[in-house]
Amino acid sequence: MTAADYLPSRHSITALRKAARECQGCDLCYRGTQTVFGEGPAKARIVMVGEQPGDQEDLAGRPFVGPAGALLDKSLVEAGLERTQVYLTNAVKHFKWEQRGKRRLHARPSSSEIEACKPWLVAELEAIQPELLVVLGSVAAQSLLGRKFKVTQQRGTFVESEWAERTLATFHPSALLRAPDPEARAEMRRMFVSDLKKVAKALKSLGVKVS
Ligand code: URA
Ligand code: SF4
Repeated sequence: MTAADYLPSRHSITALRKAARECQGCDLCYRGTQTVFGEGPAKARIVMVGEQPGDQEDLAGRPFVGPAGALLDKSLVEAGLERTQVYLTNAVKHFKWEQRGKRRLHARPSSSEIEACKPWLVAELEAIQPELLVVLGSVAAQSLLGRKFKVTQQRGTFVESEWAERTLATFHPSALLRAPDPEARAEMRRMFVSDLKKVAKALKSLGVKVS
């Protein structure tokens, strides 16, 4: 089983979102509270892809509403972008977690889970056909750019991909939150915002007003 077994015949974002609620394409459907589908304008010029919903996203049923989302929002604004201009989604649509005391700790999705969920992501990208695609972190990069892609070494430059004319990989905002010390965190944050500024500039070159 993969998500492909649950794809609806119509591939509008609304139809996809509705069908994804019933997905049992991998075992993560038993672990998470609900499917967390992508969110944003169906005509967005930019799609950003994260890893998987976190604890708060799992409960709210919406992507990037927890700490990583807050940092992403802040960084977008610093770069001259707004979240409302972006369709935000994840490579994997159920929260994978392990119990640690009272907390549900994030666990990295396996390659087979990433593959199982990919049909949703591909269908979102095909429905939206963004000019600009931003790949946040190594799980999204594995899904869309292949296992050999190394975000730390290959981030920050536009490449052409199957999914968009201009695709840029950068850090996942959670990686910034996990940085070992304040200096490392500040440096990663600076690089992250600088990458997002490249996206803002590219959006401007498409004739879209950016702040
Ligand atoms: N991290 C992600 O990759 N996606 C979310 O939606 C939240 C946190
Ligand atoms: Fe389906 Fe993806 Fe959830 Fe697995 S993680 S059950 S493939 S929506």
